[in-house]
Amino acid sequence: MTETVNCDLRINGGSLLNTNTSELNLGDVAIKSDQIIAIEDVPDNYVASRTIDATGLIVTPGIIDLHTHVAGGLRRSSPYVEDMMQDADTAGVHSGVTTVVDAGSCGIANIGGLVNHVIPSVKTRVLALLNVGSLGVNRIPEVTSALDIEHDAAVATIQSRKDVIIGVKARMVSPGIAELGIDLPKAAKAIANDAGVRLMVHMGDTTGDSDQALAAAPKILAEILEPGDIVTHSFTGARGGLLSSLPPQAQPLPLSGGDSEGFKRERGRTLLREALDARRRGVKFDIGVGGRNFSFDAAKRVLDGGLIPDTISSDVTLTSRYAGTAFSQIDSIGKVMSLGISLEDALVMATRNPAAVLNSTFPPRAQSLPLLGGDSEGGQGDGGMERMLGCMAPGTHADLTILRVHEGEWEFIDGDGNINIGNLALEPVSCIRAGQVMPIDYGPREGGWLPDPSGGG
Ligand SMILES: [Zn+2]
Repeated sequence: MTETVNCDLRINGGSLLNTNTSELNLGDVAIKSDQIIAIEDVPDNYVASRTIDATGLIVTPGIIDLHTHVAGGLRRSSPYVEDMMQDADTAGVHSGVTTVVDAGSCGIANIGGLVNHVIPSVKTRVLALLNVGSLGVNRIPEVTSALDIEHDAAVATIQSRKDVIIGVKARMVSPGIAELGIDLPKAAKAIANDAGVRLMVHMGDTTGDSDQALAAAPKILAEILEPGDIVTHSFTGARGGLLSSLPPQAQPLPLSGGDSEGFKRERGRTLLREALDARRRGVKFDIGVGGRNFSFDAAKRVLDGGLIPDTISSDVTLTSRYAGTAFSQIDSIGKVMSLGISLEDALVMATRNPAAVLNSTFPPRAQSLPLLGGDSEGGQGDGGMERMLGCMAPGTHADLTILRVHEGEWEFIDGDGNINIGNLALEPVSCIRAGQVMPIDYGPREGGWLPDPSGGG
């Protein structure tokens, strides 16, 4: 008689995402404590105290969001007057997302609040990028002059908590980029270099449309970013993003709806050659949907130019969550699929790919385990908290997301108010973080998780 193997949780009959092959295959998952102990053909003698029936659902490694703002409660005295930072678990486990990176909400003056008070109190795994501006986006604009950047203190801050603070964030926006030009990304890269971490740059001058941002963009890509550094907002239409400038003979297109600040949509803009070169060198490209940092027009131009970004992230804020245009990481995945990226590829862009970005932060493991979608080269962390994200295999961390796919005609909206119709929308059904089943909760948005159906039906 076969001996019973006791487990805490079994997930039965789901379509499991193999992040190595980008395929979905039917199977089960068995979890004990905070680890996966068996996967795919899990024998009947693995008996669990709790079972989830995932028939008709997709089971992925825990979804990762590389660009969020989750320093909720640090910016305003009350969450009811907050406009930006949200609770980490709202962006995280309650949205089906097990790991988030806070991308520069805080600088040296306030990241202690995030590290010491927010992160220990939430269920979601939260990592942070230190804003190059000392106050972070707790005060916008965070960089108005060189005085807002304190190199030595920033390096010391990162080095004191490199387990959590995994890089530097710098926004190439006015007035900082207009005032400092290329010296702004140089100062950020110098901090990252001296601290031994990566740099994430926000490209696209959403607050100034400045010529300095436009001039800096190719230089940032060619001369400043190194392998492992990250460009966020790859699909921005703003000046200083990944697209070339307006040709002299071209005329701006009429403004579209919802475009109060008046971005010019420009004909004939193409992907910068420097972006493709940077990609070949190992620079990572992230989408970072956000409020105004994602344009379907720009996305199509970037994709036409031959660059499919590495990772999908939401840049979701409290405002964008309830009012648009970035509602959640799950919605962001749907938005990217509406551009013609397959379900499997889009899920890899929110699991394995961001995990690879994070894992390369940490020293490679001495030995690798057989992984379903894992990276046999190792690079899975140092054996601590960050063991093995972005894949599912015996011995990996039990962070999982369960999704329902809704077919139909769905309206996805961009930062210019333009609509793109997609055939698939995703709904988070359950989320397991370190072996614990987390409740899913959108909050009060009318319509819940799904985008509006096309035609208002
Ligand atoms: Zn952001």
